[in-house]
Amino acid sequence: MTTRSETQTTLDHLLTEIEHRNPAQPEFHQAAHEVLETLAPVVAARPEYAEPGLIERLVEPERQVIFRVPWQDDQGRVRVNRGFRVEFNSALGPYKGGLRFHPSVDLGVIKFLGFEQIFKNALTGLGIGGGKGGSDFDPHGRSDAEVMRFCQSFMTELYRHIGEHTDVPAGDIGVGGREIGYLFGQYRRITNRWESGVLTGKGQGWGGSLIRPEATGYGNVLFAAAMMRERGEDLEGQTAVVSGSGNVAIYTIEKLTALGANAVTCSDSSGYVVDEKGIDLDLLKQIKEVERGRVDAYAERRGASARFVPGGRVWEVPADLALPSATQNELDENDAATLIRNGVKAVSEGANMPTTPEAVHLLQQAGVAFGPGKAANAGGVAVSALEMAQNHARTSWTAARVEEELADIMTSIHTTCHETAERYDAPGDYVTGANIAGFERVADAMLAQGVI
Ligand code: GLU
Repeated sequence: MTTRSETQTTLDHLLTEIEHRNPAQPEFHQAAHEVLETLAPVVAARPEYAEPGLIERLVEPERQVIFRVPWQDDQGRVRVNRGFRVEFNSALGPYKGGLRFHPSVDLGVIKFLGFEQIFKNALTGLGIGGGKGGSDFDPHGRSDAEVMRFCQSFMTELYRHIGEHTDVPAGDIGVGGREIGYLFGQYRRITNRWESGVLTGKGQGWGGSLIRPEATGYGNVLFAAAMMRERGEDLEGQTAVVSGSGNVAIYTIEKLTALGANAVTCSDSSGYVVDEKGIDLDLLKQIKEVERGRVDAYAERRGASARFVPGGRVWEVPADLALPSATQNELDENDAATLIRNGVKAVSEGANMPTTPEAVHLLQQAGVAFGPGKAANAGGVAVSALEMAQNHARTSWTAARVEEELADIMTSIHTTCHETAERYDAPGDYVTGANIAGFERVADAMLAQGVI
């Protein structure tokens, strides 16, 4: 039998090869490292996982599509963006994962997100494979008409690659209800089909699921609550710092408040707001969802309890809980040291890979409960899968039913991660638990389905 350290050496070689084969994709390297670093115990214990080519297949997307997206701005000028869809792994079901529209998007970013999505989706237990897509298009400052023309052009290429049984995109950063509406309209027009389950995150009344907009944030708070329960505590009276001010952050704050915690921050790329009375959600929703404005407007309108800190990071505000809900690598080791100094008890990732590897290490060493995104933020994609189920059955469930299912799924993900970590001698290490549990499900399906 191979030992853990021999297995780790093999995995390390593979990581070096991944870096050579995928140059200039630092986020993908980081995501692959983060998973492969934790797999040695399971690969050493179960010889079938050491089968040559299994992990090599897992790190190579099944299909990668890159395409031109030309569109005209309101002045009639032709603009050209780049579109991506990475169909990473379909061993467990149709590719599933969001679309991100942000200037930082490139192939490496989409591959990191797609790779994470494989394990996250496996953890939901709902029969969905992993994929991700997007564009370097920046919707900020664009009119509705420009966003519509961009989405129509994007879908004019994407439609041939997706389908309710093939690949089901949804939203991510820069892609919300408005964009999903335009994308769905164009898909319907091109294909002449009412194929409800081809996209998730749709609007109420035309196939969308209740609680889908709330699901990622709600789910992350439920995951954080489960981690706190393990420590004999609940969320009541805890102070929480939340980064971001998009869909994930807003519904994280909503659920924290509902469970008796005090969520005191939100942020965007210009800086952050701290509100000692707790974030006023009606005001934040008005500014972000209706006016599509910036968080400094929140501080201006809120009055004495709130102030805007230009350029600052929410992690400097003392808190019991931290829920990074903006974007990748937004919480580094300095931030982690500050959080630890201020007595943080749990960090739960609403965004994908928001915590740098060094910061994760520091938090875990200090005994802080750390919920990795692929477990903690899986509520979003889980409710997407429930939206697909409703679409296939041509029905819609009540909000109470969806919320109950979401709560069950989050509890079961927490239990799975917790138990798996214990089984592999890493008690309390949710990173190892999530990676191994997700890996086992995907790897078992891949082995059963042969070399494809
Ligand atoms: N973009 C979300 C995620 O990172 C949701 C994906 C989906 O609903 O398909 O999981």
